Amino acid sequence: MSTVIYPSPIFGPIHSRRLGVSLGINLMPADGKVCTFDCIYCECGFNADHRPTLPRPTREEVAAALEAKLKEMAENGPKPDVLTFAGNGEPTAHPHFAEIIDDTIRLRDKYCPQAKVSVLSNSTMLHHKQVHEALMRVDNNILKLDTVSIEYIKKVDRPQQPSYNVEDIIESLSAFKGHVIIQTMFMKGQADGVDISNVKEEYIEPWLKAVERIKPMEVMVYTIDRETPAKGLLKATHEELDGIRDRVTAMGIPCTASY
Ligand code: SF4
Repeated sequence: MSTVIYPSPIFGPIHSRRLGVSLGINLMPADGKVCTFDCIYCECGFNADHRPTLPRPTREEVAAALEAKLKEMAENGPKPDVLTFAGNGEPTAHPHFAEIIDDTIRLRDKYCPQAKVSVLSNSTMLHHKQVHEALMRVDNNILKLDTVSIEYIKKVDRPQQPSYNVEDIIESLSAFKGHVIIQTMFMKGQADGVDISNVKEEYIEPWLKAVERIKPMEVMVYTIDRETPAKGLLKATHEELDGIRDRVTAMGIPCTASY
């Protein structure tokens, strides 16, 4: 299996046991990746290897393609269980992200009111008021926090903006007042000869403290599932993920582990 660049602006639906029928909305160009992180585990590959030549889809293009697909699915099935913002990069970095969320909620209400709207984001644009407010309007606001160690973040998530500050991110996550699902990648192994395991206590304990501060409605812990652009990365084990999940659950916060 190799890294993947998704079609844009709509892809799928993808059937998964966990999400059901998920229709993907990709606000990035169809021929490359644009992200404010450059994670060494990104299933789309490294930013530098997938520079797009096409522009991002416009708000109007997203709404038209989504409406056509939802209409077709309403008529012929399958009915979507979730409309998921994901794809080749960071969806909240689209300049019209907030308006696109409003269009999506309107179209969801018209064609598939049972479906949830989910956003998968790396949390780097939360300081923008309109991004925060738009995420408050979606059903599943799924935000990444892989660790609270800035050294680790620089090695693994590799923020593209020098101003990235993990304390500010934790504050922004807390500002959702529970309307947030924290998603955390746990893994092991080496990248360029450097140990990148975050299943050690020195990473888990401060991360748990941050989760306690954020008070999310849920936490999702997961591990590598596809080929990664960096070689030498290893999956966290079931036992390691289950152990972390149980510690989150013990704080009274629902938590799922995906292997
Ligand atoms: S935040 Fe997501 S899309 Fe961006 S580099 Fe990391 S894994 Fe890839």
